[in-house]
This record gives sequence, structure tokens and C-alpha cells, in this order.
Amino acid sequence: MIKENLAKIKSKLPDHVNLVAVSKTKPKEDILEAYHAGHRIFGENKVQELVEKHELLPQDIDWHMIGHLQRNKVKYIIPFVALIHGVDSLRLLKEIEKQSAKINRVQNILLQVHIADENTKFGLDEKELVEILNQLTEYPHVKVLGLMGMATFSDDQQKIASEFEYLHSLFLKYQPEYQLTTLSMGMSNDFEIAIQNGSNMIRVGSSIFGERNY
Ligand SMILES: *Cc1c(COP(=O)(O)O)cnc(C)c1O
Repeated sequence: MIKENLAKIKSKLPDHVNLVAVSKTKPKEDILEAYHAGHRIFGENKVQELVEKHELLPQDIDWHMIGHLQRNKVKYIIPFVALIHGVDSLRLLKEIEKQSAKINRVQNILLQVHIADENTKFGLDEKELVEILNQLTEYPHVKVLGLMGMATFSDDQQKIASEFEYLHSLFLKYQPEYQLTTLSMGMSNDFEIAIQNGSNMIRVGSSIFGERNY
């Protein structure tokens, strides 16, 4: 089923949209099924699970950290992680700089912007975003590829669309000056709306691997 689900989603995606297969809580067999179908980009939201899966699975997988990242855990993933999606504070960015400098690596990241109305979701507002963008030259081991956001969990498609539209407008505004390339937004329930509103990287879990049992 995983192979079929993956093919079905990929058939809907325009060429410029990258798919992160979100494999959190799923066993390595499931990841291998997607891998053998040719998929290489996987997303996890827990550091320990990400590290374990990276050790067990093929080395040519691009691992993305999509969840909230604690500063004290940054060091465990810096040696191998391809992209960190949820950078939502300067303190976290500084820790990524420090750990990446130690091993002489430049770490790709996305800055997470708060676009949902729930106060439970992490992310920067525009002012905080600009403050960080303005000092990036001080952090040569961190490369900001773009922005990431999560819409409100809702059935209201208009609301979701307007949140994605807002993030897209920020992306377009800061793209020229900071050479942003990546706009990560859209999950199983809302990736089509996200793509209509400018997303070029979607993070899809349950529509590929099935519902998660926590
Ligand atoms: C779990 C998760 C996803 C995928 O969610 P699905 O609804 O299963 O597609 C996407 N992004 C983040 C940040 C997640 O934590």
C-alpha cells in the first residue's frame, strides 16, 4: 500500500514540489518500502528516533528534522541531517551554528513562521524573522534555505488557504535579498491547498504510511 500511496501523491505534484515522506512512529520496514519505490527524502520529528533510523537505514537517505528541536539535542543530528525545518529562535540557530562549526559543516535550515491561530504552534512572527535574517552573516555554518509553517488544524479551507497565502507573501518578500528557495508547507490534509498557495515542499505522513498509533 505504501508504494501505491506514494505513487498516487507523486502523480498529483507539479515538478517543482518536493515531497518529504514523514515516517515518524513508523517501523523501518515501512521506510524501506518507500525507499525501494525510489523515494529518498524522509522526515522525523523526534531526535532519538531520527538518529536510530539513520543508523539502521540506507545511507543515501536525506533525513529531514521536521519537529520542534531542543537545543541540547542539536549535536546528535548535525553530523548527518539534510534539512532542519523548525528553527524558531535565534538561540536554537546559534546552537546549530556552534555544532556545525565544530565539524566544519554548513547546515541547511528553514525558519519556522507562526501562521496558525492556535498559540500551541511554534514559530516566529515577521519581526523576529527579519531580526534573524538580518544577522545571518554572523552564522556562516548555517544556511537558511527558506521558510516553513503549519496552518491551523481546521476544516475551514478558506482559513487554511489564507494562512498559507500569508506565509507565501513573506517568502516572496524576503526571497530576493536572502536568496530563499524553499517554502515548506502542507501536510496530508492540506497539501493541495498549500501547493495552490506557493508551497514547493510538502511534508506528508499518514496519507503515505497510514494513520499513526501513538
Ligand atoms: C507529523 C507531521 C507532518 C505530517 O503529518 P500528516 O498529517 O501525517 O501528513 C508534517 N509536518 C510536521 C511538522 C509533522 O509533525
